[in-house]
Amino acid sequence: MKVWDLHCDTLYQLRKAENEGTPYLFEKNDRHISLEGLKKGDYLLQCFACFVDKKEDEGNLLAACMEEADVFYQLLEAHPEELMQIRTPEDIRRLETSGRIGAMLTVEEGGVCLDQAGILRDLYRLGVRMMTLTWNYENGLASPNLVPENDDEPCYPAEGKGLKEKGLEFLAEMERLHMIADVSHLSDGGIRDMLKFAERPFAASHSNARSVCGHVRNLTDEFLRGMGEKGCIAGLNYCPMFVDPDYGKKKTSDLRSTVHGLALHARHMMNVGGEDLVALGSDFDGIDGDLEIPDASQMERMAVGFLDEGFTSREVEKIFWKNAKRFFEENL
Ligand SMILES: [Zn+2]
Repeated sequence: MKVWDLHCDTLYQLRKAENEGTPYLFEKNDRHISLEGLKKGDYLLQCFACFVDKKEDEGNLLAACMEEADVFYQLLEAHPEELMQIRTPEDIRRLETSGRIGAMLTVEEGGVCLDQAGILRDLYRLGVRMMTLTWNYENGLASPNLVPENDDEPCYPAEGKGLKEKGLEFLAEMERLHMIADVSHLSDGGIRDMLKFAERPFAASHSNARSVCGHVRNLTDEFLRGMGEKGCIAGLNYCPMFVDPDYGKKKTSDLRSTVHGLALHARHMMNVGGEDLVALGSDFDGIDGDLEIPDASQMERMAVGFLDEGFTSREVEKIFWKNAKRFFEENL
């Protein structure tokens, strides 16, 4: 089964390892994503996020993002026969017959733009095609849905914290550019504003259903319904804390990410938001814990597991790659 994945933090891990003097190989490694694993997992496309953490890169958010974009370009340059950068609908149409794996550059943390629309446009020119408005810190655009200082505690939604004026300005500019606005990590108030003000479909690249697992990083039924009506997309996140229905009841370290759990989310999200809404957004290389699907190479096991859970092969195809492919073909 082909795979189109909306989010991973591999560029961040490669940058961090390099900066710490312990570089590892993208080609083959024992982490979540390697070139070997993507091939074995039959990937059609992986979105690679430039992820920055304000705590680690205070005052240097943009520089950290640019370093990760450089890692992305180094991977492309090292593997021209195997990877293909995707920037346009035309690129997507060429991808399937190219025999290569698509690679799309994205950003996780709108704060890297330093609230300057010119920097947003430069990122677009660099190939960035999707960007989360926030990560887990408030920035000039909006607020997140959890407080990172309490990462191990049940988190609470920042009710009422909608998009800031600059956030609305950025949304309009992203829509003009055809850079996808990504609401994963965004506050409930912010997502409500997105449903109200967005004129084009947007994404939640790595978020599940809050009715199935009550973590505030997941989407409420109100949001799933609204996003489905707007032609949006939401990628299943494999993080145990966002998958396990026992979140809040068990210790964080006892939570599990199982194929069954992911299937519960997918089914609920389709029931509420429609069958075109659901895609994959593993969050590989950004998560840890007990993962039944331990890395990219094992994705076929997840496809087989979804069939065992009662999904039709047509539904599995839609979730694994067809919904995402159509979404980007229509919206880039
Ligand atoms: Zn994330």
